[in-house]
Amino acid sequence: MDLSYGKEYDEFRAQVRSFLEENWPPQGGASRDDGGRQFRQAAIERGYLYRNIPKRYGGSEQEADSIAAQIIREEFGAKHAPMEIRAIGMMMLVPTLLERAEEWQKEKFVRPTVMGEITWCQGYSEPGSGSDLASLQTRGVLEGDEWVINGQKIWTTSAMEADWMFCLVRTEPDVPKHAGISYLLIPMKQPGIEVRPLKQMNGTAEFNEVFFTDARTPADHIVGQRGEGWLVSRTTLKHERNSIAAAAQAAATFQGLVQFARDTKRGGRPVIEDPLVREQLAILEGYVCAHEYSGLRQFTKDAKGESPGIISMMNKLHSTNIGSMVAKASLEIMGEDGLMDPVQTGLAKLGVIPSGSQAWLNQYMYSLGIAVAGGTANIQRNVIGERGLGLPRDHYANRSSGK
Ligand SMILES: Cc1cc2nc3c(=O)[nH]c(=O)nc-3n(C[C@H](O)[C@H](O)[C@H](O)COP(=O)(O)OP(=O)(O)OC[C@H]3O[C@@H](n4cnc5c(N)ncnc54)[C@H](O)[C@@H]3O)c2cc1C
Repeated sequence: MDLSYGKEYDEFRAQVRSFLEENWPPQGGASRDDGGRQFRQAAIERGYLYRNIPKRYGGSEQEADSIAAQIIREEFGAKHAPMEIRAIGMMMLVPTLLERAEEWQKEKFVRPTVMGEITWCQGYSEPGSGSDLASLQTRGVLEGDEWVINGQKIWTTSAMEADWMFCLVRTEPDVPKHAGISYLLIPMKQPGIEVRPLKQMNGTAEFNEVFFTDARTPADHIVGQRGEGWLVSRTTLKHERNSIAAAAQAAATFQGLVQFARDTKRGGRPVIEDPLVREQLAILEGYVCAHEYSGLRQFTKDAKGESPGIISMMNKLHSTNIGSMVAKASLEIMGEDGLMDPVQTGLAKLGVIPSGSQAWLNQYMYSLGIAVAGGTANIQRNVIGERGLGLPRDHYANRSSGK
């Protein structure tokens, strides 16, 4: 089987590689965040990032070419070079605005988001509404030319630093629950919003509770029509799920694990010489390879303009499963170092391969959350069973929504 993409694309791949060699990781001791921003800008200018975002909104506006896009994903993934820095706005909101928003909304929000001038958080989950998202209770009432918002969100990543929130609120309380939700854009820095951090087991506080007490946003800061928020939010989640499924990244993290087993010594010998560790690595490699080939199946469909359907759902699930398995295996390798405090480097977030026990410990803790974010693994299984395999609908999902 010839898995190459052809000579023309080999040349393109070589160009992407040499760009990455010159630009990532950033030189001159720049902090990762700054380095990431400059790097991203250079990548936009080369046409590697934001290919489907028009230039007037800060993208690189390239012709649709799923093979070129795949090569960029593979090469960036293999080098763990960041395709996104302010991921929430870029991956979840911008595609939604491009597909659903009015022109003035795109002009106001897309370019500053692409440029990193404004940052976003996602206000979906509530204390009683996670998987059953459509049961959300936060209320939005139109008073004059403003929405007045009351209620509470939870697990809101980066709310403490975000300028804006894209938020689901109940605006039509008297209709069936899916039809009563609207998608609002709400400024975070205002007296009616209180953000309370939630401390996590790795010592960081990336999540927050967000309380709304007569918080306000202009009446026209709604994406889609009143009551269409559920539909609009589906666009966001579709993009979120696709973005998480990155086979190249899983493969690179696995290679990092193999290196970790080579570098770690127990009884004076590299841990990789332990037959049980070798067996575990061999099993994991099987999963990683299968995931890569499944990724190629998805890509083939994409390149032919066909819907990948169930394959993309499976890949999201595999991606998070493999991430958890790889991270868990690192605990075996590090042995008693697993009792240390993790180093709070945010490595996993930036997609840098962990090195050293503490960073792997952080990766392990982070991997537990990834299997929940954007719809839990069980909900993914439900979706695969129902929409992919045509099984009867989940009893609970008939009563709720299933995020
Ligand atoms: C890293 C991370 C980042 C997040 N960031 C954000 C954010 O920025 N904004 C935001 O709004 N939310 C965010 N969340 C919240 C996330 O979307 C929810 O945690 C998720 O939707 C699950 O909801 P829940 O926590 O209420 O769990 P629940 O829905 O209560 O689920 C609990 C358990 O029950 C299972 N379950 C529930 N219903 C079913 C069913 N019908 N069939 C089978 N099993 C079921 C689930 O799989 C899970 O194992 C984040 C979560 C994580 C972990």
